[in-house]
Amino acid sequence: MPPARPKLLILGTGFASFSLVKTIDVDRYEVIIVSPRNHFLFTPLLPSTTVGTIEFRSIIEPIRTARRGIRYHQAACISLDTDAKTIECQSAFDSQRFTLAYDLLVIGVGSLSNTFNIPGVEAHALFLKELADARAIRSRISDCFEQASQPGLAHPNIEALLHFVVVGGGPTGVEFSGEMHDFVAEDLSKWFPDLLPFVRITLLEASGAILTSFDERLSQYALRHLKRARIQVRTHSFVKEVQPGRVLLSTGEEIPCGLVVWSTGIGPTALAKSAALPRDDRGRLLTDATFRVHGHETVYAIGDCARVESENLAATAQVAQQSGEYVARRLNQLARGREPKAFTYHHRGMLAYLGGNRAIADLQNVKARGFTTWLLWRSVYLTKLVSLKNKILVLGDWLQTLLFGRDISRF
Ligand SMILES: Cc1cc2nc3c(=O)[nH]c(=O)nc-3n(C[C@H](O)[C@H](O)[C@H](O)COP(=O)(O)OP(=O)(O)OC[C@H]3O[C@@H](n4cnc5c(N)ncnc54)[C@H](O)[C@@H]3O)c2cc1C
Repeated sequence: MPPARPKLLILGTGFASFSLVKTIDVDRYEVIIVSPRNHFLFTPLLPSTTVGTIEFRSIIEPIRTARRGIRYHQAACISLDTDAKTIECQSAFDSQRFTLAYDLLVIGVGSLSNTFNIPGVEAHALFLKELADARAIRSRISDCFEQASQPGLAHPNIEALLHFVVVGGGPTGVEFSGEMHDFVAEDLSKWFPDLLPFVRITLLEASGAILTSFDERLSQYALRHLKRARIQVRTHSFVKEVQPGRVLLSTGEEIPCGLVVWSTGIGPTALAKSAALPRDDRGRLLTDATFRVHGHETVYAIGDCARVESENLAATAQVAQQSGEYVARRLNQLARGREPKAFTYHHRGMLAYLGGNRAIADLQNVKARGFTTWLLWRSVYLTKLVSLKNKILVLGDWLQTLLFGRDISRF
């Protein structure tokens, strides 16, 4: 009989857990993954799928095909018992519950879109976090255009339907606005020419600036570029409620619209909030510099749901990916009886697409913007996609969009 391998239970299939699964030595650990999502999603290109620049399946990779020799259960972990070393899960298909035991647990459950408890957001706005969100946005855009071209509709109703409101001036909100602009300028203007004068895109931001995590000159450039593209950017605009077909601002102003995309930041998942583990004031699980949860020798937390106490790392894909890889290497070294090295984060810079084939890049020694930066943006993300299949599909999608435009079918 081969010696029993320690049971390594991994929660989630996002950037952090996926990179761990790719790197862990499956001959040394029995790897079991639990996640309600049976695939990895490459979020940096998610905004492109909302308008069809890229197709949905081009940016996902099934977890089962990512690595041989692993087990996967499509379920959500709903509670942990760190004394008994078990977790309780709820199936993704019905209310059936089951318990799994572990020797080592890695929590990589990511985060949720934060609504700040603003009334109506959950019910009437769309988020941009998962593939299902992107699909809902794409259908809603088609619905708005087809509905607006029904005969007999009054002008104010057409204007409202074709007003696309984005809440949140961070990278996701800006990238969606840019993609929406491209869709209107390159495709919808051809197929709905009569409706073009009614189309508006408005970006609402509660603070005084957009893309605040970028160098100030780049964020100013982004603002100028969006304005030139006739995207209305309204800073100091605080949304106090979302109702069906309109957004209400704290000033009392009502903004009629056909679609609201909500991207104002992230908050903790239900599991991170409820688990009896130490947390910071933003609900992230507190870990030491090796990503071990404080006071729990056998529990690790990685990615967006974790907070290394000595270093406040941003909630980004590169941090998540590096934390997952590090924990896998650490566990591999421990299994071989070697002393693991300390974690060091390598910041590779930030990129954002602005629409109209323009992007910005905030790299260590270079602050770049414009058309060539857009080419850099595309090539960086093409190389970062996690499989050859994804790379070929995304290249094909870009070529298809260039040659035939984006698909506007509604189904
Ligand atoms: C639209 C968009 C664009 C982005 N662009 C960039 C970018 O350009 N660059 C960048 O660095 N970052 C970007 N990010 C941020 C980046 O996606 C996140 O920081 C990263 O995904 C975090 O990785 P993670 O593994 O911690 O979480 P996630 O990737 O969110 O994965 C969490 C996983 O946990 C699973 N899960 C949730 N609850 C449970 C549970 N109870 N039990 C089991 N599993 C559970 C989920 O299904 C999912 O599989 C973007 C994010 C979005 C939404």
